[in-house]
Amino acid sequence: MDEKKIALVTGANKGIGYAVAHGLGAEGFRVAVGARDDERRDAAVQKLRADGVDAFGVALDVTSDESVATAAQEIEAEAGRLDVLVNNAGISGRLDGGAQDPTTLDLAVLRTVLDTNVLGVVRVTNAMLPLLERAGAPRIVNMSSDMGSLELHTGPLLAAYASSKTMLNALTVQYARRLADTAVIVNSACPGHVATDFTGHQAPRTPAQGATIAVRLARLPDDGPRGGFFNEAGPVPW
Ligand code: NDP
Repeated sequence: MDEKKIALVTGANKGIGYAVAHGLGAEGFRVAVGARDDERRDAAVQKLRADGVDAFGVALDVTSDESVATAAQEIEAEAGRLDVLVNNAGISGRLDGGAQDPTTLDLAVLRTVLDTNVLGVVRVTNAMLPLLERAGAPRIVNMSSDMGSLELHTGPLLAAYASSKTMLNALTVQYARRLADTAVIVNSACPGHVATDFTGHQAPRTPAQGATIAVRLARLPDDGPRGGFFNEAGPVPW
C-alpha cells in the first residue's frame, strides 16, 4: 500500500479547492483533484505537479451518482484507501432578479443549490466512507461558510445558498455523531471571504488563506475536535 496519505478534494480545479489541494500537497499528501470538466481538471493537475504536488485527476461531478461511484472505484484502484476527503465543491446559485430573496425564492434555484452543496456532500461522503474507513486517521472536512451560521447572519440575503450551508453544518454534526466511535473525524470549515470566481474576486482573502483552516482540519490529531465549525481563529458559532 502507498505510504503517502491520499486526499480527495472536490471542486479542486480552481479557487479555494485548488488551494486546499496545493496546501495538502505541500504537507506531503498525494492529492486526487476532483473536478467535473476534463480540461480544467487536467490543467489544474499539471499546474499542481509543476509546483511539486503529487497530484492526479479524478473525474467527479458531485451531482451525479454514476460519476461519484466511478470516482470511488478510481481512487480504490489508485490507492486502495482514502485518508482525507475535503467536500469543497459548491455553488452560489443564480443571484439575479430576487432569485434568492426568501419572499420570491425561485424553487429551481433552491433545488440546484441543495443538489450540489448538500446532496452532493452526502453522495460523495457515503461513496468514499468505505475507503476512508480503511485509513489509519481518516478526516472529512466540509467547506461551509459563515453565511450558514444562524447566529452570525452575515452577508447579503441569499436564501438558497445560506440555507444550504446551514444544512451542511447540520450534516457535519449528524456524521460526527454517527462516526463518534470510529477513527473518522468530521468537521465544517469556514474559509472567510475569499477572492475567487465565486465572489467575482471582490474579497479580501486569498485562496491560500481560505484553504488554511481546511488543511488544518484535514490534519487533526486523533484527539482533535469532532463535529465542530471552525475558521482560522477558532470555533464559529452555529
Ligand atoms: P469557485 O467558484 O472558485 O470554485 C467552485 C468549485 O466547485 C469549482 O472547482 C467548480 O467546478 C466546483 N463545482 C461546482 N459544482 C460542481 C459539481 N457539480 N461537481 C464538481 N465540482 C463542482 O468557488 P470558491 O473556491 O470560492 O468556493 C469553494 C467552496 O468554498 C464552496 O463550497 C463555497 O461555498 C465555499 N465558500 C467560499 C467563500 C468565498 O468567499 N469564496 C466563502 C465561504 C465559503 P467548475 O470549475 O467545473 O465549475
